[in-house]
Amino acid sequence: TSAAREEPLPVLPPDVDRPTFNAAIQELREGLGEEWVVLNTEELDDGWYMEHPNTHDAHHVFPPWDLVSSGVCYPSSTADVQLIVRWANKYLIPIHPISLGRNFGYGGAAPRVRGSLIIDLGKRMNRVLKLDGENCSALLEPGVTYFSLWETIRASGLDLWVDVPDLGGGSVLGNACDRGVGYTPYGDHWANHCGLEVVLPTGEIVRTGMGALPGKEGEDNPTWQSFQYGYGPFLDGIFSQSNYGIVTTMGVWLMPATQHTSYMLTFAEEESYPEIMSLIRPLAINKVLGNVPQLRHAIQELTITGLSRASIWDQPGSVPPEVVRKEVAKLPCGECSWVFYGTVYGPAAFRAQQLKTIKRQFFQLPGTRLFLPSDVPSTHYLHSRALVCSGQPVLRELNWLAWVPNGAHVAFSPICPTGGEHVKKLYEMCKRRCKEFGLDFFPTLCVASREAHVIVELVYDKSSPSSKHAAYTCIRTLIADAARAGYGEYRTHLVFSDQVAGTYNWNGGALMKLNERLKDALDPRGVLSPGRNGIWPRRFRDKGWEM
Ligand code: ADP
Repeated sequence: TSAAREEPLPVLPPDVDRPTFNAAIQELREGLGEEWVVLNTEELDDGWYMEHPNTHDAHHVFPPWDLVSSGVCYPSSTADVQLIVRWANKYLIPIHPISLGRNFGYGGAAPRVRGSLIIDLGKRMNRVLKLDGENCSALLEPGVTYFSLWETIRASGLDLWVDVPDLGGGSVLGNACDRGVGYTPYGDHWANHCGLEVVLPTGEIVRTGMGALPGKEGEDNPTWQSFQYGYGPFLDGIFSQSNYGIVTTMGVWLMPATQHTSYMLTFAEEESYPEIMSLIRPLAINKVLGNVPQLRHAIQELTITGLSRASIWDQPGSVPPEVVRKEVAKLPCGECSWVFYGTVYGPAAFRAQQLKTIKRQFFQLPGTRLFLPSDVPSTHYLHSRALVCSGQPVLRELNWLAWVPNGAHVAFSPICPTGGEHVKKLYEMCKRRCKEFGLDFFPTLCVASREAHVIVELVYDKSSPSSKHAAYTCIRTLIADAARAGYGEYRTHLVFSDQVAGTYNWNGGALMKLNERLKDALDPRGVLSPGRNGIWPRRFRDKGWEM
């Protein structure tokens, strides 16, 4: 449904009338300070990556007023977060925490329930609480970005890396809680977190892992950032991709800097990707591939230069493959269909041996070529990749938004076993649907040991309702197609979260039933991010909210 914009602002949360809302806001202002509660009463501004809005999703696939907050509040401490949570319980006003609220392609800062109050944790809670050069770890507040952590480490003189995702402006804590990935050997962000402090939906604070055991004389436990599990059930998992708590502090492991060489392999034949994946699998499982490498369709060599689609093709529908091929051939990678970006780590002799093995494996495919950074111009993407793969945040990946005017993106991100036949099935499914909806297809496979995150970013013109509709419908269709074949997403934009959660329905939806029992036990008044990841609290359930 498209919400009318004519109503008075701010938009209200469900079942709260304006006088009650105004009184509640007044009370919250008294608790936090007048200037730290800001109502959403202006025209929405999408900004850009570094100046993104915390009111709505800048990459809207629906009209932006459909998924919008009533306002934003800015806590300065865990105690402030407790105050906000208790306030929300009193007035039944849904609250939605964000760390930075970038979360591009997955919903940005938007709440799932219109009129929720955003808790912007990042603005004032942005300290690196601890940086430990010997344990190689840090303790962070939500507002610490990849850039700011990197700068803090540089300033400290320590030689540690920050594992960064494609773009460096996000929250280290927020990205880990949403199970994002990066590209050094520490690329699985959730696997490399160690210890949480969480405010529960009813306002209590808990520490997980060794943090539950008090340190000497009230200090933090000395092993909080050294051992993930502590004693008893390992509960950290329920605070990732959920709405069971607000994470106010997180420990993270940092990789000591090491020598590295990034490289690019190019493959000639479009149809060879199942074989490429079959060659990658044993190298990944044996950890000959040092990081999370990416296999990208060659069209991305074009888009990453910031090229617009209009400059190579002026017709509607997907750009024909022969046009893509001709344009790719003009680039440093030369004529090719796929590019593979990888990095090897360690002393020179190690790296030389690993590269030898990698070459021997991939050169079984005729037409394969290897490029080192010294083989390509200084502006080539391989140099940005070398930075990302050695823990330096960059913004280069934003370039491909220039593909269409008012470029926005939304991702279809299924998980695929690394076997060639699975990849082929998913790839053909996505290619067919993208063509059907007139969209260009930019597949990237991020390969961990036994699975690949298949990231299909759809780039659309957010000023055009038909372009948005095509992207939206294409993803909806793909989620259903993939689930029928047994494949599911690892993460999704909030408008698809009910659908994706609904595909994880083995044994009569036993997993969601468990999620709902947890939700009702932890959040009996249903205030924390209702609907996030498809989990609805009792008071919202079966009332037409799911979509
Ligand atoms: P980014 O770090 O990319 O800017 P966000 O801050 O938007 O991303 O966080 C990504 C997702 O994780 C959002 O859906 C948000 O609701 C959730 N999230 C972020 N920070 C927290 C937190 N501290 N506690 C609980 N959930 C969080």
